[in-house]
Amino acid sequence: MKKNVQLYILLAFIGASIAAFAFYKLNPDNADNKKEGYTSSNLPMKQNDVGTKSIGREATLGAVGDILIHDRVYNEAKVDDGFDFKPMLAEVKEALEKPDVLLANQETIVAGEKIGLSSYPSFNSPHEVADALVDAGVDIVTTANNHSLDRGVSAQKQSLEYLNKINLPYVGTFASEEDQQKLRVLESNGIKIAYLSYTYGLNGISVPKNEAYIVNLIDKEKMKKEIAIAKKQADFIVMGIHWGIEYERNPNQEQKNLAQFLVDEGVDIIFGGHPHVLQPMEWLYDKNGEKSLVVYSLGNFLSGQADDYRDIGGMVTVKVSKTELGGKTTKKMEVPSFYPTYVYSKNDKGYKMVPLEDAGKLGLPDSKQNYQEIMTHMLKGVHPK
Ligand SMILES: [Zn+2]
Repeated sequence: MKKNVQLYILLAFIGASIAAFAFYKLNPDNADNKKEGYTSSNLPMKQNDVGTKSIGREATLGAVGDILIHDRVYNEAKVDDGFDFKPMLAEVKEALEKPDVLLANQETIVAGEKIGLSSYPSFNSPHEVADALVDAGVDIVTTANNHSLDRGVSAQKQSLEYLNKINLPYVGTFASEEDQQKLRVLESNGIKIAYLSYTYGLNGISVPKNEAYIVNLIDKEKMKKEIAIAKKQADFIVMGIHWGIEYERNPNQEQKNLAQFLVDEGVDIIFGGHPHVLQPMEWLYDKNGEKSLVVYSLGNFLSGQADDYRDIGGMVTVKVSKTELGGKTTKKMEVPSFYPTYVYSKNDKGYKMVPLEDAGKLGLPDSKQNYQEIMTHMLKGVHPK
Protein backbone atom coordinates (compact mmCIF):
# COMPACT_ATOMS: atom_id res chain seq x y z
CA MET A 1 0.00 0.00 0.00
CA LYS A 2 1.02 3.53 -0.37
CA LYS A 3 0.34 6.06 2.24
CA ASN A 4 3.24 5.39 4.51
CA VAL A 5 5.81 4.68 1.90
CA GLN A 6 8.48 6.94 0.67
CA LEU A 7 11.45 6.13 -1.45
CA TYR A 8 14.89 7.19 -0.54
CA ILE A 9 17.38 6.83 -3.27
CA LEU A 10 20.38 6.65 -1.02
CA LEU A 11 23.62 7.10 -2.72
CA ALA A 12 25.95 4.24 -2.39
CA PHE A 13 29.05 5.53 -4.06
CA ILE A 14 28.51 9.07 -5.18
CA GLY A 15 28.17 12.40 -3.49
CA ALA A 16 25.22 14.53 -2.55
CA SER A 17 25.71 16.97 -5.39
CA ILE A 18 25.21 14.23 -7.93
CA ALA A 19 22.24 13.17 -5.87
CA ALA A 20 20.64 16.53 -6.27
CA PHE A 21 21.25 16.42 -9.97
CA ALA A 22 19.87 12.89 -10.26
CA PHE A 23 16.85 13.86 -8.23
CA TYR A 24 15.80 16.57 -10.60
CA LYS A 25 16.72 14.57 -13.62
CA LEU A 26 14.86 11.47 -12.55
CA ASN A 27 11.90 13.19 -11.15
CA PRO A 28 11.51 16.75 -12.33
CA ASP A 29 7.80 16.78 -11.57
CA ASN A 30 8.43 16.05 -7.95
CA ALA A 31 10.71 18.95 -7.25
CA ASP A 32 8.01 20.57 -5.16
CA ASN A 33 8.27 17.74 -2.64
CA LYS A 34 11.23 19.65 -1.25
CA LYS A 35 8.90 21.95 0.57
CA GLU A 36 7.91 19.06 2.79
CA GLY A 37 11.41 19.04 4.17
CA TYR A 38 12.98 16.22 2.27
CA THR A 39 16.58 16.55 1.35
CA SER A 40 17.58 16.38 -2.25
CA SER A 41 18.83 12.83 -1.95
CA ASN A 42 15.35 11.62 -1.17
CA LEU A 43 12.85 10.68 -3.80
CA PRO A 44 9.54 10.79 -2.00
CA MET A 45 7.12 8.87 -4.17
CA LYS A 46 4.19 9.07 -1.84
CA GLN A 47 2.94 11.09 1.04
CA ASN A 48 4.54 10.19 4.33
CA ASP A 49 2.49 10.98 7.37
CA VAL A 50 4.47 9.07 9.96
CA GLY A 51 5.96 10.66 13.05
CA THR A 52 9.46 9.98 14.19
CA LYS A 53 9.24 9.34 17.92
CA SER A 54 7.85 5.87 18.44
CA ILE A 55 10.08 3.25 19.98
CA GLY A 56 8.64 0.16 18.34
CA ARG A 57 7.87 0.25 14.64
CA GLU A 58 6.50 -2.34 12.30
CA ALA A 59 5.71 -2.73 8.63
CA THR A 60 4.18 -5.46 6.53
CA LEU A 61 6.17 -6.33 3.45
CA GLY A 62 4.50 -8.13 0.57
CA ALA A 63 5.60 -9.61 -2.73
CA VAL A 64 3.97 -11.14 -5.77
CA GLY A 65 5.56 -13.08 -8.62
CA ASP A 66 6.06 -12.65 -12.33
CA ILE A 67 4.11 -10.16 -14.39
CA LEU A 68 4.61 -11.93 -17.72
CA ILE A 69 2.37 -10.43 -20.36
CA HIS A 70 1.73 -12.63 -23.40
CA ASP A 71 -0.08 -11.23 -26.44
CA ARG A 72 -3.21 -13.17 -25.53
CA VAL A 73 -3.27 -11.23 -22.25
CA TYR A 74 -2.71 -7.75 -23.70
CA ASN A 75 -5.14 -8.41 -26.53
CA GLU A 76 -7.79 -8.93 -23.87
CA ALA A 77 -6.86 -5.64 -22.22
CA LYS A 78 -7.38 -3.60 -25.37
CA VAL A 79 -9.68 -0.60 -24.99
CA ASP A 80 -10.50 2.26 -27.36
CA ASP A 81 -7.60 4.47 -26.38
CA GLY A 82 -4.96 1.89 -25.47
CA PHE A 83 -5.00 -0.84 -22.85
CA ASP A 84 -6.49 -1.30 -19.43
CA PHE A 85 -5.25 -4.12 -17.20
CA LYS A 86 -6.99 -2.85 -14.09
CA PRO A 87 -10.12 -4.98 -14.55
CA MET A 88 -7.87 -8.08 -14.57
CA LEU A 89 -6.62 -7.21 -11.09
CA ALA A 90 -9.87 -5.84 -9.68
CA GLU A 91 -10.79 -8.91 -7.62
CA VAL A 92 -7.41 -9.15 -5.88
CA LYS A 93 -6.78 -5.44 -5.50
CA GLU A 94 -8.19 -5.18 -2.00
CA ALA A 95 -5.71 -7.80 -0.77
CA LEU A 96 -2.79 -6.27 -2.67
CA GLU A 97 -3.41 -2.92 -1.04
CA LYS A 98 -2.95 -4.32 2.46
CA PRO A 99 0.83 -4.62 2.84
CA ASP A 100 2.70 -1.41 3.60
CA VAL A 101 5.18 -2.10 0.82
CA LEU A 102 4.43 -4.41 -2.10
CA LEU A 103 6.99 -5.76 -4.57
CA ALA A 104 6.24 -7.36 -7.95
CA ASN A 105 8.55 -8.88 -10.55
CA GLN A 106 7.99 -7.03 -13.82
CA GLU A 107 9.30 -9.81 -16.05
CA THR A 108 8.40 -8.22 -19.37
CA ILE A 109 9.51 -4.74 -20.29
CA VAL A 110 6.80 -2.07 -20.57
CA ALA A 111 8.27 0.00 -23.37
CA GLY A 112 4.84 0.37 -24.97
CA GLU A 113 3.50 0.48 -28.49
CA LYS A 114 6.05 2.89 -29.93
CA ILE A 115 8.60 0.11 -30.47
CA GLY A 116 5.94 -2.51 -31.20
CA LEU A 117 4.35 -4.83 -28.68
CA SER A 118 5.55 -8.41 -28.63
CA SER A 119 5.04 -11.72 -26.91
CA TYR A 120 7.04 -14.91 -26.27
CA PRO A 121 9.93 -15.31 -26.76
CA SER A 122 10.89 -11.59 -26.98
CA PHE A 123 8.44 -9.66 -24.90
CA ASN A 124 7.45 -6.00 -24.89
CA SER A 125 4.30 -5.01 -23.05
CA PRO A 126 2.03 -1.96 -23.03
CA HIS A 127 2.84 0.86 -20.60
CA GLU A 128 -0.56 0.32 -19.03
CA VAL A 129 0.65 -2.87 -17.34
CA ALA A 130 2.69 -0.71 -15.00
CA ASP A 131 -0.23 1.70 -14.51
CA ALA A 132 -2.38 -1.21 -13.34
CA LEU A 133 0.29 -2.38 -10.89
CA VAL A 134 0.51 1.06 -9.32
CA ASP A 135 -3.27 1.24 -9.15
CA ALA A 136 -3.39 -2.15 -7.42
CA GLY A 137 -0.90 -1.14 -4.75
CA VAL A 138 2.50 -2.21 -6.07
CA ASP A 139 5.23 0.05 -4.65
CA ILE A 140 8.36 -1.25 -6.37
CA VAL A 141 9.22 -3.70 -9.17
CA THR A 142 12.22 -5.92 -9.78
CA THR A 143 13.29 -5.82 -13.40
CA ALA A 144 16.36 -8.10 -13.51
CA ASN A 145 15.26 -11.31 -15.20
CA ASN A 146 15.91 -13.44 -18.27
CA HIS A 147 13.68 -11.21 -20.40
CA SER A 148 15.35 -7.92 -19.43
CA LEU A 149 17.12 -7.55 -22.78
CA ASP A 150 14.59 -9.35 -25.00
CA ARG A 151 14.27 -6.23 -27.15
CA GLY A 152 17.70 -4.77 -26.48
CA VAL A 153 19.26 -2.14 -24.26
CA SER A 154 17.41 0.83 -25.68
CA ALA A 155 14.02 -0.87 -25.25
CA GLN A 156 14.87 -1.63 -21.61
CA LYS A 157 15.75 2.02 -21.12
CA GLN A 158 12.47 3.12 -22.65
CA SER A 159 10.70 0.82 -20.24
CA LEU A 160 12.53 2.37 -17.29
CA GLU A 161 11.74 5.81 -18.62
CA TYR A 162 8.07 4.98 -18.35
CA LEU A 163 8.47 3.63 -14.81
CA ASN A 164 10.19 6.88 -13.87
CA LYS A 165 7.40 8.84 -15.48
CA ILE A 166 4.79 7.18 -13.30
CA ASN A 167 7.06 7.19 -10.21
CA LEU A 168 7.18 3.44 -9.87
CA PRO A 169 10.57 2.57 -8.37
CA TYR A 170 12.44 -0.29 -10.04
CA VAL A 171 15.55 -2.26 -9.24
CA GLY A 172 17.66 -4.76 -11.16
CA THR A 173 17.93 -2.92 -14.46
CA PHE A 174 19.25 0.60 -14.71
CA ALA A 175 19.28 3.53 -17.08
CA SER A 176 22.89 4.50 -16.41
CA GLU A 177 25.86 3.73 -14.22
CA GLU A 178 24.74 6.40 -11.74
CA ASP A 179 21.30 4.89 -11.63
CA GLN A 180 22.80 1.48 -10.87
CA GLN A 181 24.84 2.88 -8.01
CA LYS A 182 21.84 4.27 -6.20
CA LEU A 183 20.60 1.94 -3.55
CA ARG A 184 16.81 1.66 -3.52
CA VAL A 185 15.54 2.16 0.01
CA LEU A 186 11.84 2.42 0.75
CA GLU A 187 10.71 3.66 4.12
CA SER A 188 7.51 2.63 5.80
CA ASN A 189 6.50 3.47 9.38
CA GLY A 190 10.07 4.48 10.13
CA ILE A 191 11.51 1.19 8.90
CA LYS A 192 13.94 1.38 6.02
CA ILE A 193 13.93 -1.47 3.55
CA ALA A 194 16.60 -1.84 0.87
CA TYR A 195 15.59 -3.65 -2.31
CA LEU A 196 18.15 -5.46 -4.47
CA SER A 197 17.61 -7.54 -7.59
CA TYR A 198 19.70 -9.90 -9.74
CA THR A 199 19.13 -12.47 -12.49
CA TYR A 200 20.95 -15.70 -13.41
CA GLY A 201 21.03 -14.77 -17.10
CA LEU A 202 19.35 -13.27 -20.16
CA ASN A 203 18.29 -16.16 -22.39
CA GLY A 204 21.68 -16.19 -24.10
CA ILE A 205 21.78 -12.46 -24.81
CA SER A 206 25.02 -10.94 -23.63
CA VAL A 207 25.31 -7.58 -21.94
CA PRO A 208 27.13 -4.97 -24.06
CA LYS A 209 30.44 -4.23 -22.31
CA ASN A 210 30.03 -0.46 -22.45
CA GLU A 211 26.52 -0.70 -21.01
CA ALA A 212 27.13 -3.30 -18.31
CA TYR A 213 25.02 -1.27 -15.85
CA ILE A 214 21.86 -2.17 -17.76
CA VAL A 215 21.15 -5.32 -15.71
CA ASN A 216 22.41 -6.99 -12.54
CA LEU A 217 23.64 -10.50 -13.23
CA ILE A 218 24.20 -12.85 -10.29
CA ASP A 219 27.77 -12.29 -9.14
CA LYS A 220 28.61 -13.16 -5.55
CA GLU A 221 31.31 -10.51 -5.18
CA LYS A 222 29.07 -7.78 -6.52
CA MET A 223 26.16 -8.92 -4.36
CA LYS A 224 28.34 -9.08 -1.27
CA LYS A 225 29.45 -5.48 -1.79
CA GLU A 226 25.95 -4.20 -2.38
CA ILE A 227 24.57 -6.06 0.65
CA ALA A 228 27.31 -4.52 2.82
CA ILE A 229 26.29 -1.04 1.66
CA ALA A 230 22.60 -1.80 2.16
CA LYS A 231 23.25 -2.97 5.72
CA LYS A 232 24.53 0.48 6.62
CA GLN A 233 21.59 2.30 5.10
CA ALA A 234 18.56 0.14 5.80
CA ASP A 235 16.99 -1.88 8.60
CA PHE A 236 15.98 -4.78 6.38
CA ILE A 237 17.37 -6.05 3.09
CA VAL A 238 15.09 -7.65 0.52
CA MET A 239 16.58 -9.51 -2.44
CA GLY A 240 14.43 -10.20 -5.49
CA ILE A 241 16.22 -12.91 -7.41
CA HIS A 242 15.61 -14.63 -10.72
CA TRP A 243 16.83 -18.23 -10.55
CA GLY A 244 15.91 -21.90 -10.56
CA ILE A 245 14.48 -24.33 -13.09
CA GLU A 246 11.26 -23.58 -14.96
CA TYR A 247 8.21 -25.59 -13.88
CA GLU A 248 10.01 -27.26 -10.94
CA ARG A 249 7.89 -27.04 -7.80
CA ASN A 250 10.86 -27.32 -5.46
CA PRO A 251 14.17 -25.46 -5.30
CA ASN A 252 17.37 -27.08 -6.50
CA GLN A 253 20.66 -27.22 -4.66
CA GLU A 254 22.02 -24.20 -6.52
CA GLN A 255 19.16 -22.02 -5.26
CA LYS A 256 19.63 -23.35 -1.73
CA ASN A 257 23.36 -22.66 -1.76
CA LEU A 258 22.94 -19.14 -3.13
CA ALA A 259 20.16 -18.41 -0.63
CA GLN A 260 22.41 -19.46 2.24
CA PHE A 261 25.20 -17.27 0.87
CA LEU A 262 22.88 -14.25 0.70
CA VAL A 263 21.58 -14.88 4.20
CA ASP A 264 25.12 -15.21 5.55
CA GLU A 265 25.95 -11.85 3.97
CA GLY A 266 22.95 -10.20 5.63
CA VAL A 267 19.88 -10.46 3.39
CA ASP A 268 16.73 -10.67 5.51
CA ILE A 269 14.19 -11.71 2.91
CA ILE A 270 14.66 -13.39 -0.48
CA PHE A 271 11.79 -13.31 -2.96
CA GLY A 272 12.61 -15.69 -5.83
CA GLY A 273 11.11 -16.02 -9.26
CA HIS A 274 11.48 -17.60 -12.70
CA PRO A 275 10.19 -21.19 -12.28
CA HIS A 276 6.64 -19.92 -13.18
CA VAL A 277 5.28 -22.10 -10.40
CA LEU A 278 5.30 -21.66 -6.65
CA GLN A 279 8.24 -23.04 -4.70
CA PRO A 280 8.02 -23.17 -0.89
CA MET A 281 9.37 -20.76 1.67
CA GLU A 282 11.58 -21.58 4.61
CA TRP A 283 13.67 -19.99 7.34
CA LEU A 284 17.41 -19.91 6.90
CA TYR A 285 19.85 -18.96 9.65
CA ASP A 286 23.11 -17.08 9.42
CA LYS A 287 26.19 -17.98 11.43
CA ASN A 288 24.91 -15.97 14.42
CA GLY A 289 21.63 -17.82 14.39
CA GLU A 290 19.71 -14.83 12.98
CA LYS A 291 16.70 -15.90 10.98
CA SER A 292 15.98 -14.91 7.36
CA LEU A 293 13.08 -15.77 5.10
CA VAL A 294 13.51 -17.29 1.67
CA VAL A 295 10.61 -17.75 -0.74
CA TYR A 296 12.19 -19.84 -3.47
CA SER A 297 9.63 -18.94 -6.12
CA LEU A 298 6.55 -16.76 -6.15
CA GLY A 299 5.46 -18.29 -9.46
CA ASN A 300 3.57 -16.37 -12.09
CA PHE A 301 1.30 -13.63 -10.85
CA LEU A 302 -0.34 -12.30 -14.02
CA SER A 303 0.59 -14.25 -17.15
CA GLY A 304 -0.88 -16.02 -20.14
CA GLN A 305 0.39 -19.42 -19.00
CA ALA A 306 -2.27 -21.90 -17.96
CA ASP A 307 -2.39 -25.31 -16.28
CA ASP A 308 0.25 -27.35 -14.44
CA TYR A 309 0.26 -24.85 -11.56
CA ARG A 310 1.43 -22.04 -13.85
CA ASP A 311 -1.81 -20.12 -13.37
CA ILE A 312 -1.48 -20.27 -9.59
CA GLY A 313 0.57 -17.64 -7.80
CA GLY A 314 0.06 -15.41 -4.85
CA MET A 315 1.24 -12.84 -2.40
CA VAL A 316 3.57 -13.48 0.52
CA THR A 317 3.35 -11.03 3.39
CA VAL A 318 5.62 -10.80 6.38
CA LYS A 319 5.53 -8.36 9.25
CA VAL A 320 8.89 -6.92 10.25
CA SER A 321 9.59 -4.76 13.26
CA LYS A 322 12.31 -2.73 14.82
CA THR A 323 12.55 -1.72 18.45
CA GLU A 324 15.02 0.78 19.80
CA LEU A 325 15.66 0.60 23.51
CA GLY A 326 18.63 1.96 25.41
CA GLY A 327 20.58 2.51 22.22
CA LYS A 328 20.05 -1.09 21.18
CA THR A 329 18.06 -1.95 18.08
CA THR A 330 16.22 -5.26 17.88
CA LYS A 331 14.83 -6.50 14.57
CA LYS A 332 12.11 -9.08 14.31
CA MET A 333 10.31 -10.93 11.57
CA GLU A 334 7.00 -12.69 12.14
CA VAL A 335 5.69 -15.88 10.57
CA PRO A 336 4.72 -15.02 6.97
CA SER A 337 1.29 -15.44 5.41
CA PHE A 338 0.31 -16.50 1.95
CA TYR A 339 -2.60 -15.35 -0.19
CA PRO A 340 -2.83 -17.66 -3.21
CA THR A 341 -4.25 -16.36 -6.47
CA TYR A 342 -5.45 -17.86 -9.72
CA VAL A 343 -5.47 -16.48 -13.26
CA TYR A 344 -8.73 -17.40 -14.90
CA SER A 345 -9.02 -17.63 -18.69
CA LYS A 346 -11.05 -19.59 -21.18
CA ASN A 347 -9.69 -20.36 -24.65
CA ASP A 348 -7.15 -17.55 -24.18
CA LYS A 349 -9.89 -15.07 -23.40
CA GLY A 350 -11.32 -13.32 -20.37
CA TYR A 351 -8.14 -13.13 -18.30
CA LYS A 352 -8.73 -12.13 -14.73
CA MET A 353 -7.20 -12.78 -11.35
CA VAL A 354 -9.17 -14.16 -8.45
CA PRO A 355 -8.27 -15.43 -4.99
CA LEU A 356 -7.55 -19.16 -5.38
CA GLU A 357 -10.22 -19.76 -2.77
CA ASP A 358 -12.83 -18.49 -5.23
CA ALA A 359 -11.46 -20.29 -8.28
CA GLY A 360 -13.94 -23.16 -7.93
CA LYS A 361 -16.75 -20.84 -9.01
CA LEU A 362 -14.86 -20.19 -12.24
CA GLY A 363 -14.52 -23.86 -12.98
CA LEU A 364 -11.15 -24.78 -11.50
CA PRO A 365 -11.57 -28.46 -10.70
CA ASP A 366 -10.85 -29.62 -7.12
CA SER A 367 -10.36 -26.03 -6.05
CA LYS A 368 -10.71 -26.76 -2.32
CA GLN A 369 -8.03 -29.45 -2.39
CA ASN A 370 -5.91 -27.21 -4.62
CA TYR A 371 -6.14 -24.41 -2.11
CA GLN A 372 -5.17 -26.65 0.80
CA GLU A 373 -2.35 -28.25 -1.13
CA ILE A 374 -0.92 -24.87 -2.18
CA MET A 375 -1.09 -23.46 1.36
CA THR A 376 0.72 -26.50 2.76
CA HIS A 377 3.25 -26.45 -0.08
CA MET A 378 4.12 -22.81 0.58
CA LEU A 379 3.92 -22.60 4.36
CA LYS A 380 5.02 -25.95 5.77
CA GLY A 381 8.61 -24.80 6.05
CA VAL A 382 7.86 -21.69 8.11
CA HIS A 383 4.94 -22.50 10.36
CA PRO A 384 5.56 -23.89 13.80
CA LYS A 385 4.66 -27.58 13.83
ZN1 LIG B 1 12.00 -15.71 -15.96
